[in-house]
Amino acid sequence: MGAATKVHYQGATFDRATFDAIKWAQRLAGFTFTIGQGSFANGSLSAGTHTGAGTVDVGCAGLSHTKIKKILRALKLAGFAAWFRNWPGNQHIHAVLFGVRGVAAGARDQLVDYDNGRDGLAWHRPDRSFRPRSKRRWSFRLRRPVKRR
Ligand SMILES: [Zn+2]
Repeated sequence: MGAATKVHYQGATFDRATFDAIKWAQRLAGFTFTIGQGSFANGSLSAGTHTGAGTVDVGCAGLSHTKIKKILRALKLAGFAAWFRNWPGNQHIHAVLFGVRGVAAGARDQLVDYDNGRDGLAWHRPDRSFRPRSKRRWSFRLRRPVKRR
């Protein structure tokens, strides 16, 4: 199975690389995430960022601040750009994976925003939350995150 092979998980669709990275992050966090929107989806609130590979939303309704921080940290260490969207009625973490092919244009812009310490939204506001000490991407071949430039 190649990196682009489609995988279905919790009612969402992912490319194999993104699925592997989510599983890796869950193992690090020590619990299973509640998956909202996956990849290859076109949710009205996502401005097309989910139409390609590499994207996932993790539902955060009812989760403690500590648990939300744990999910964010685990996703970022796996090689995702990730942000907590504290939107009333739709609290979730939006994440885009570095190192996969076929990421939608809007999501690629968000990867740039993440490296620039921004929030990945239209106004590109500062995001001062945790970043791994060295930049990371997911390696499909090695089945783990690796350093990137
Ligand atoms: Zn999203």
